Amino acid sequence: MELLDVDKLIEEFESMTKDAGNVQRQTLKKILEENGCAEYLQNLGLNGRTDPESFKACVPLVTHNDLQPYIQRIVDGSSSPILTGKPITTISLSSGTTQGKPKFVPFNDELMETTLQIYRTSYAFRTREFPIENGKALQLIYSSKQSKTKGGLIAGTATTNVFRNSQFKNTMKAMQSQCCSPDEVIFGHDFHQSLYCHLLCGLIFREEIQFISSTFSHSIVHAFRTFEQVWEELCADIREGVLTSRITFPSVRSAMAKLLKPNPELADLIHKKCLGLNNWYGLIPELFPNVKYIYGIMTGSMEPYLKKLRHYARDLPLISADYGSSEGWIGANVNPNVPPELATYVVLPDIGYFEFIPLKENVEEAKPVGLSEVKVGEEYEVIITSFAGLYRYRLGDVVKVTGFHNLSPELKFICRRNLMLTINIDKNTEKDLQLAVEAASKLNTEEKLEVLDFSSHVDLSTNPGHYVIFWEISGEVREEVLEECCNCLDRSFVDAGYVSSRKINAIGPLELRVVQRGTFQKILNHYVGLGAALSQFKTPRCVGSTNNEVLQILCNNVVKSYFSTAF
Ligand code: AMP
Repeated sequence: MELLDVDKLIEEFESMTKDAGNVQRQTLKKILEENGCAEYLQNLGLNGRTDPESFKACVPLVTHNDLQPYIQRIVDGSSSPILTGKPITTISLSSGTTQGKPKFVPFNDELMETTLQIYRTSYAFRTREFPIENGKALQLIYSSKQSKTKGGLIAGTATTNVFRNSQFKNTMKAMQSQCCSPDEVIFGHDFHQSLYCHLLCGLIFREEIQFISSTFSHSIVHAFRTFEQVWEELCADIREGVLTSRITFPSVRSAMAKLLKPNPELADLIHKKCLGLNNWYGLIPELFPNVKYIYGIMTGSMEPYLKKLRHYARDLPLISADYGSSEGWIGANVNPNVPPELATYVVLPDIGYFEFIPLKENVEEAKPVGLSEVKVGEEYEVIITSFAGLYRYRLGDVVKVTGFHNLSPELKFICRRNLMLTINIDKNTEKDLQLAVEAASKLNTEEKLEVLDFSSHVDLSTNPGHYVIFWEISGEVREEVLEECCNCLDRSFVDAGYVSSRKINAIGPLELRVVQRGTFQKILNHYVGLGAALSQFKTPRCVGSTNNEVLQILCNNVVKSYFSTAF
């Protein structure tokens, strides 16, 4: 297998972004030519026109709900060209964090190709800064169950559709990024068992591991938190060369048996290293001496895990992976030197046609602008037109333009647009919540305690309504500290609408509810049960009443609650 030509990839990217405006026009033309015969476009009266002006005039902005009837017909097996020229044969289940249930979105070869393209692009920039040797990667990736829809289409999470595609493996080989675990582990039917085996494979190949990755960095933190629980069992397996009886799937057992040989020296070494660590600080470089960096999406709802990730990674570089969604990719991280808090994503102008709704203006009237018209410093909602049947699709993400790479915008991910804590005139986003939790959890550090995960809810059953923040923390915390954390959370929402409402008690005192250890694991299990995969899991940061099951998991596990006295 030939390795990728990093210089050539970078050169191609540079020349494409220097001509971003034209490339966008050409991309739209290609999308509309390939799919012009689709019923959806036919009904909109484009009549073969492929220029952005006609496109914007004829095609409305849509949400997933608007497309649902079309997608449903595809899912049910209609083979006529509905959204795309070529029939769709595979469906992706998006993580559906916000709505509480996965959404169906079309997946096709073109989407696969753009996925590999963005992987190659960021790999090229990453490798230039942080070269890796020919070795292996500990990729904490998991597939969801792939099922057949009523109409016989294959359905799985987008990552599953990618991992199952034969081109994925070839590209990973060409990127020197081969997963150290066998396929049986990646595609295992139980993610607890797969996780255990990933860790075991990582340890077996510890000297060869060049980097550690996952789709979203939550999976990396989750894996090493699990390591803290199972490390002795892992050492025992290595010592004896026999897999724990906890792994029950025969295919996984036989795949692992091929790798596992009795190795008491390795078991002793790992045992000694683990005992020598202080609160697991620097665990990753201790276990994997040749790792060059940690890689996975670390921005947005993943930011709260950075602290723990740094704790495990010590001084290893953390590099945020690219920006995209089940609906399509958007931008690549071409500045791998930048810490994840500052990571930006350069839009790839040939993987889709992109528009941006300015958020400064009144939302209903704001007109979307093209990729070349965005302004530095402003925030926008992203709109995608893809090669997989989505036209002017509102992704619901808010991004900020931080600059341009040649002529293509660099985006900073801000938040999901609809994740908003609001009761009357207050508006707080996922990011505001994250900042409040960060501020309040600092009060905890003196106690050496940690907020493992968090979520929130607007409780309107009280009069006035109030914000509820759920915390899962490690260990016991003194009552006074939690009372102070609760006040700090309340004070940390600095949005003028919130503060003024709190002052006149139009919003009631914020409530901090501490949940039992393991509650967020139950939420994860709940989503996986619905068909989500650990690889794409994002903790819902704001749980609405419509997401009743998750709300019930949170509410049923509350052990203590505190009301703020900050106002
Ligand atoms: P999914 O629904 O599982 O396809 O996840 C897609 C969503 O994950 C996007 O719409 C974003 O909200 C979020 N996301 C994806 N990539 C990133 C990133 N690099 N930074 C922050 N959030 C991201």
